[in-house]
Amino acid sequence: MATTSEFYIPVKRAHKSRLNEVYWDKLELGTYTSDHMLVWDYSDGWWHTPEIQPFGPFTILPTTLALHYGQTIFEGMKAFRAEGGGVHIFRPDRHYERLVRTTERMCMPTPPAGLFLEGLRRLVEVDKDWVPGQTGTSLYLRPMMFATGTQLTVRVSDSYRFAILCLPAGAYFSRPLRVKIERHFVRAVRGGTGYAKCGGNYGGAFYPTQQAKAEGYDQVIWTDGIEHRHIEEMGMMNIFCVINGALVTPPLGDTLLDGITRDSLLTLALDMGMTVEERQISVDELREGLERHTITEVFGAGTAAVVAPIETIGIDGINYSLTNAESIGSSLKEELDAIRYGRRPDKYGWNSYI
Ligand SMILES: *Cc1c(COP(=O)(O)O)cnc(C)c1O
Repeated sequence: MATTSEFYIPVKRAHKSRLNEVYWDKLELGTYTSDHMLVWDYSDGWWHTPEIQPFGPFTILPTTLALHYGQTIFEGMKAFRAEGGGVHIFRPDRHYERLVRTTERMCMPTPPAGLFLEGLRRLVEVDKDWVPGQTGTSLYLRPMMFATGTQLTVRVSDSYRFAILCLPAGAYFSRPLRVKIERHFVRAVRGGTGYAKCGGNYGGAFYPTQQAKAEGYDQVIWTDGIEHRHIEEMGMMNIFCVINGALVTPPLGDTLLDGITRDSLLTLALDMGMTVEERQISVDELREGLERHTITEVFGAGTAAVVAPIETIGIDGINYSLTNAESIGSSLKEELDAIRYGRRPDKYGWNSYI
């Protein structure tokens, strides 16, 4: 990560902190934003100087292109307070690499790595009192970028605003989920934008998810967009199955989001001596495995929950139950948390201390 001396980022401090307005015992992600945000504009072919400012509204014209044609993207990562008090950001370099792929797919300029990483670090430093301390809690970091051009025709914008927001997040214990294999709607198709964290992917997923909720499920498991034969992801998480004791997850491709949690769990599982397979999982294999109990566990993986266990999977109208006994998912989560909260040596160099 870059050193402070290399980049100068001006800081305009908030007159009064809102820290004392926070109910720390009942932290729900999305309720609070920290005192500051980073704002960084791109226009006339270059990136201006990023600035850390008090959190507040943006003024935009109704003709702002992002609102019409959807050039809007984001990232999601977390800062943690490790035992002993040090604050670090978890794998910011990997999140940056994904942001680069997303910007390229959406014809947006890529923020330079050095300033991106230093801006992130400096923002967390300025708002470090917003990083909660109890185990399971974190400061969620939301980089975002949208087209600010206002010449209203269908076109690639020539100006953009990039920002980073910070939101304190409580310990997130996912209750076991009821999910449905989606056989009609699609989230992503080959050649599409599924691998990018762009706004449209999420807006488009709301309708099928609402339908599933009306049927009594929490989420959908997306299947491939052509035959609906292979499983891909679960809601906004990557998916893992334990099949005959092996940890199996679908391989990356342009219809899957390359999750940093997915990568971290795969690394940990290999190191813990588990059999790990990145391969296609068909709905037929899933059904048979659930019937014969050779599939013992299915869970989602993502930054928000880390691991979200599944208790019920609906396949073509039939519900299959999972007990998730002796859960591999929760032992992987424990291992990952131990690294993030500083209880275990960070031998992979994932924690980027500020
Ligand atoms: C963000 C996201 C994930 C999880 O990625 P992480 O880096 O682990 O948070 C998985 N699938 C989708 C569709 C996502 O948007």
